[in-house]
Order: sequence, then structure tokens, then C-alpha cells
Amino acid sequence: MLGQVRFDPETGAPLSQTKEYPPYERGGGAGVRSPEPHPDAEGWHVGREGALTNGELESSSLGLLGHFRRTHRAARDEPNTALDRAAALAIKRIKADHDGIYDSLAWLVLAERLCRKGYWVVWMLDHFTPRCPHCGSSLKFKLGAGPIGYCASSASHGDVDEQIRELVCERYNETFATSDHYIDQLEIV
Ligand SMILES: [Zn+2]
Repeated sequence: MLGQVRFDPETGAPLSQTKEYPPYERGGGAGVRSPEPHPDAEGWHVGREGALTNGELESSSLGLLGHFRRTHRAARDEPNTALDRAAALAIKRIKADHDGIYDSLAWLVLAERLCRKGYWVVWMLDHFTPRCPHCGSSLKFKLGAGPIGYCASSASHGDVDEQIRELVCERYNETFATSDHYIDQLEIV
């Protein structure tokens, strides 16, 4: 993921706090970070030695799962293998059905799926960077009864909360709906 919440797109490993400034020819002009070892980020040491990234809009399945496990451990002390398995399966299905889906959207579809499976996943809402559904820009928030997200890049995209909810429902149904299970509103938000 990219933005305030960022991690290694290949493994979900955390990134270094400080930026590095490698030589220009390696593409490091603006400063980049290194993935750091973490037990929940599988395979961080395989081919990620010396990797430089600030996160991506779209991560691999393993990257999303690593981020999920890491943030779950931070929110809850005990690992939950049933939850890990459910998350791994859901991520695989979401990614298989939606080529190029942004992490910000995949994360909400995942949270909704796990919520519908009976898991407590409200903590997930603190661990993603919301994006405009029209252009992928980061959001800004107006304070009201509840904060309202709007596109930081284009005034014409306006308030986007409702559109994000609709999009999550749509993607959810495309992957998980069955003849007797279909959602038209979210339970997580
Ligand atoms: Zn936008």
C-alpha cells in the first residue's frame, strides 16, 4: 500500500522509517525505503534484500496478507490461525477476480468478507489509505457528524464515501455472492 499506510508490495513487510537516497540511475531521486525483516511478512528475505520502495497502489496477494497478519498482531495479541486462513483465501479470490484492484479497495472488500464470516475486523479500518474511486488520489476529510472523504486532486470528484461503499459492495458481490447471499450495504462501515 502507498500513502500514510505503506508496506512492501511483495511481502507486506514494514518499510524503514527513514528514506534512503540512492544514486539517480537507480531511480531513487525522491528517496525510497527498505523493507525490514518481520516474522509475519513471509519471504521478505527472498529477493527483497536491497529492495527499495515506498509501497505501491497495488500489492501482491502475499503483500496484502503479510500486512494483514502484521496489523492483526498489533491490534490483538494472539495470532488467530482460522482468521489468517480465511483472510488468505479471501485475498486469493478477490485478486483472482479483479486484476489490478487497488489495495485500498481490496482491503475493504476483505474486511467486509471477514466481518460477514463473523470475525471482529473493525481494527482493519485503521490500517489502510483510502483512495478516490475515480482517480486513485488520496482523500482529504471534512469534519462533520462523521468525517466525510473527498478527492484531494479534483473538485469534480467531490465527496466519495458513498461511491466507495457502492464499489466495495459491487466487488464483494462479484466475488462472494451466491444464490442466497448478496449484499447491498456494508456491515463494516
Ligand atoms: Zn479523484
